Amino acid sequence: MKKPLIISLTCLSCAVFIAGTPFTPDYLFGLAKTHTLVSDKTGFLKRLLTTFPASDSSRVAREHLVALLVGSNRFDEALLEYRTSHPIAMNATEILDFKLFDYLLKTGHFAEVLRQTETATLSGRFSRDLRVMELRIQAYLAQGEFARARVQAEGWLTYYQKDGQAGSLYEADVKNVSYLIRHLKTLERIDGAQGKPLFTASVTDSLNRWSRRHDVPITFFKLIPARSGGQRPEAMLPGRYEVDRFFKAQVAELNQGFDYLSSGRFSLSYQGQETLYIRSGDLDPSVEGGRILTARVYVHTLPQLYRRAGEGFAVLVDYRERAEDQAAYMGDGIIHISAKKLQSLILMHEILHGLGATHQDWNFLERQGYRFDPEDRGLMTFEDGVIKYLGLEAKNRAVLDWPPVAVVKLTDTPLNIAQTPAAEPAETLLASVPH
Ligand SMILES: [Zn+2]
Repeated sequence: MKKPLIISLTCLSCAVFIAGTPFTPDYLFGLAKTHTLVSDKTGFLKRLLTTFPASDSSRVAREHLVALLVGSNRFDEALLEYRTSHPIAMNATEILDFKLFDYLLKTGHFAEVLRQTETATLSGRFSRDLRVMELRIQAYLAQGEFARARVQAEGWLTYYQKDGQAGSLYEADVKNVSYLIRHLKTLERIDGAQGKPLFTASVTDSLNRWSRRHDVPITFFKLIPARSGGQRPEAMLPGRYEVDRFFKAQVAELNQGFDYLSSGRFSLSYQGQETLYIRSGDLDPSVEGGRILTARVYVHTLPQLYRRAGEGFAVLVDYRERAEDQAAYMGDGIIHISAKKLQSLILMHEILHGLGATHQDWNFLERQGYRFDPEDRGLMTFEDGVIKYLGLEAKNRAVLDWPPVAVVKLTDTPLNIAQTPAAEPAETLLASVPH
């Protein structure tokens, strides 16, 4: 029997409170739910786990603890806790734990993702195999293994090509994978079978360490459809026919915002603007069935962006009509944003993603009765789908190492950044637990 650990409590009043009350799992759950500090919550849940390791409550407590750790960017600890309660399935071809794979990707365990999914690539289950293939490609790209990534996608396509006939349920997905292969081949052409590691937004990013740097380079690229004629409303969109002055002013505004948010620890330096012409299939808006990974890989293949990937921010301003609500971080400092969304606070949100910040999302835990500090909000917090506060959440300040600043309520029209899947992959939300 292990000796129960004594968890030191972070606030003295709790310690006094506990001293006179008998412990039960429910009592500790109650404390974890009502105390608003995340560190208090994790402390109570850990105490529950060490005091009542065999109780029915311990499974739930661990699930909540993992959710708290993930929700506060503590992925390494979350992975450790998660593994304690989810031993690796014996028959990996049957049971796949996508939540585990997500944590492994976020913590840089790429080889393990590949090992654990090795025998599960072509099972005959279309959607599952597609997901596995995309996971493996992300793990390969994060190791710079372009040829292996391409072979993976080709294997999938050979197997599932038959399901992609016109009009079939899977037509868009199959087409998308053929685009993905095209993009992976481009990467090989640019840099060979093995090139520089690429991070595709669901993966730990190389930019996290930039949050305390000044003059991080930022370049703008206008995305214009590569077809002749028919330039209609684009003329009205911000910046379409503008040159440096417009974008320089944007960066000045961003710097003003970041100067406040980071207490002078982070700033950007404008490096210019260029125009890029793109073909259909290269960066399809998600509304047209575009898959996130395909779009993320595509943006890395633009030679101008490939060179800069991981060395600065590149903002792709999309002037195509159908790109309406796009605002997404694509990994390696690359941001895709529709011209209509080209506003400082939205750009700041996406840049914060690039620095390692994540959405404030306690939905799952709130549904279980957990209360959180109502003042702890900022540019990474959505309220009814919109961003209403200029500030930075405690968990993101911890990642970025920025001191606390007062949260300013945005009085103008609240920011409506479409919470597209591209902005936040669904697998990071802890809505369900695999069995
Ligand atoms: Zn976001």
